[in-house]
Amino acid sequence: MASRQRSLAIMFPVHCDLRGQQALLVSLLTRMNVNGENIFAGAYVDRHSHVRADPAWLATAVQSDASLFVPVWGTRCLTEGEPPKLVLLPRTKIVEFIDDDEIIFLGIYRERPAFAVGIDKSVPEPFAQLGQFHDLRYLGSSLPAGEANLAAHARALVTWHRLQKYCGRCGASTQVAAGGNTRKCVNVECAVTIFPRVEPAIIVLVSRGDRCLLGRQGSWPEGRYSTIAGFVEPGESLEDAVRREVIEETDVRVGNIRYHSSQPWPFPSALMLGFNAEAETESIRLNDGELQDARWFSYKELTSGFPKLPYKISIARRLVDDWIRANRSSR
Ligand SMILES: [Zn+2]
Repeated sequence: MASRQRSLAIMFPVHCDLRGQQALLVSLLTRMNVNGENIFAGAYVDRHSHVRADPAWLATAVQSDASLFVPVWGTRCLTEGEPPKLVLLPRTKIVEFIDDDEIIFLGIYRERPAFAVGIDKSVPEPFAQLGQFHDLRYLGSSLPAGEANLAAHARALVTWHRLQKYCGRCGASTQVAAGGNTRKCVNVECAVTIFPRVEPAIIVLVSRGDRCLLGRQGSWPEGRYSTIAGFVEPGESLEDAVRREVIEETDVRVGNIRYHSSQPWPFPSALMLGFNAEAETESIRLNDGELQDARWFSYKELTSGFPKLPYKISIARRLVDDWIRANRSSR
């Protein structure tokens, strides 16, 4: 199905930003935060949701020199330095891009109000001296965990606002509400409130005895394999989606499905829900054309250099790393 092919393509970037030994070391050290959460996860922002219905508080905060602003140019976030740090701007540095009718309040970050600011100009010249705009897909694993979390939050909300300018029910315009955490239809007879969309997707490491099941798409770099993944469909439980995706892509039937962890995946708005499952059958057949190959891999193979493992930014890598750790005794 085309939609699932798209989904996998966006879940696993086909290019990797090669950044040098220092950044790679930082990446290894920061790929999970101190709480063992996945990249982009972690409640580093106090969402301070009680002020979303307080326009006076929001108006004061957005005018304050103490507030922080996260610019999002297209889908890219501003960073500086090596290893990279997220650039958080005071109002004075970004004021020409702040639209008081379109503010997006993220919450309290480092004890200061934080806002996202979408920038749609083709060339964001005022920022040239402040850093470079990069896609989080290539940078997320190099940023400190709190900054990755804040940037993912900002990117997801800015992208959502751009796509929700009109009401899906009546076609009228919509306007920001709740400090940018919802939009509301301006047609008084409709007045529907639109909430930010999060798209759940399952991702699952399937094992059978001392081997696990990984697949690859033809567009991926040679030798790279990853776990099975796909979006949850209407009318499905997460367990239903796990069983369906694995059988659709590989013809393997699974059971004993256990939740592992989750990861915000703001490309643009997925939530990856990670699982382990046990295979009840072994024979592989590529049913739906989404995968170019799928195989069973042993611990020894996974630690030998082939296959190449999923990128460190993704929960897929954590599922594989955890399985490798748990199966050391089988080497
Ligand atoms: Zn409407």
